[in-house]
Amino acid sequence: MIDMNQIVGSHDIVMITLDTLRYDAAALEVENCPNLCRGEPWEKRHTPGSFTYAAHHAFFGGFLPTPATTDKSEHVRLFHSKHTGMKTHPATWLFDTPDIVSGLQQEGYRTICIGGVIFFTKKVPLAKVLPSYFQESYWRMTFGVTNPRSTEHQVNHALKRLEKAEANERLFLFMNVSAIHGPNHYFVAGAKKDSVETQRAALRYVDGEIGRLFTKLRERERPVFCMVFSDHGTAYGEDGFEGHRLAHEVVWNVPYREFIV
Ligand SMILES: [Zn+2]
Repeated sequence: MIDMNQIVGSHDIVMITLDTLRYDAAALEVENCPNLCRGEPWEKRHTPGSFTYAAHHAFFGGFLPTPATTDKSEHVRLFHSKHTGMKTHPATWLFDTPDIVSGLQQEGYRTICIGGVIFFTKKVPLAKVLPSYFQESYWRMTFGVTNPRSTEHQVNHALKRLEKAEANERLFLFMNVSAIHGPNHYFVAGAKKDSVETQRAALRYVDGEIGRLFTKLRERERPVFCMVFSDHGTAYGEDGFEGHRLAHEVVWNVPYREFIV
């Protein structure tokens, strides 16, 4: 079990949300994701929100996806607000701010957001809310859902920013990966619409790009603790449902992993 009190302060921290990735799609691609999975399976979890805006508010509030098991004793949280009066686990890191981003900032972390989907574009007031949690936030048209090479552009931007970072500076780097969100049919030649198949192809593409980020992070002075998970899944016609922001198991079940880079 990860003891977050040993991580915060001594490690750089990376959080990557693979926007819209379904648990079942991810589970079928473990062998094809050497960077994200390293041969280990995804953990099945339940997301606290059925779409990007709701889920990310929960994540930044310290509520990561919950293990999809009925044994509550296994549900040890990495982050928890201090002074709530609730009993917390010794491995949980307690923050005394409204959210983990400002909590990590208070611990001397530089907080950086690389945006992806529409809620990170900063184009309208609503789309500035999530990026405003961070000291620095970036979004470019090329990071968005319509660009078939979005992850390449997002990773390139992260690498450029890491070049400029002091080797001993504490970093909290958050990235919202947009490629797996619809439209993703262009990851399969000839496909006309999004499906589990095209989402799986998008995930393979993302894994191929994210390796460069991990290589760069390994050059950092501090070890890097990384959390990778989806914010919600999406329906491709199951029981008549399409999309997300609805209550269906293909939306609520999400893949989760945490590891030292
Ligand atoms: Zn999302």
